[in-house]
Amino acid sequence: MGIFSSNEKRRAWLELAKEVERVGVDHIPCSQSPDLFYPDTMDGKGAAYYVKIAKRACQQCPLLLQCGTYAMEFNEEYGVWGGLSPIDRKALRRRPNA
Ligand code: SF4
Repeated sequence: MGIFSSNEKRRAWLELAKEVERVGVDHIPCSQSPDLFYPDTMDGKGAAYYVKIAKRACQQCPLLLQCGTYAMEFNEEYGVWGGLSPIDRKALRRRPNA
């Protein structure tokens, strides 16, 4: 199964990847500078700054909703997805009726 914890997650990720292909990678901000979207893997100092930039870039992405939904549904731990940082996703999960 590799990096996917379930077949369902794998299918959802492939669907998202198909959408990226349909829209065209040139229109997907994280395709241009993927490292920016995983600042949690950088040294801690500048991470908040890069998260802010990545979240803003996501607002221009045609896949904002699908991407955020995927990350919430499959509990992505790292990186900015759909304009949401790991902290944002955690906070949303804690909300009642989330
Ligand atoms: S919404 Fe998702 S696919 Fe679009 S730029 Fe942000 S992380 Fe990338």
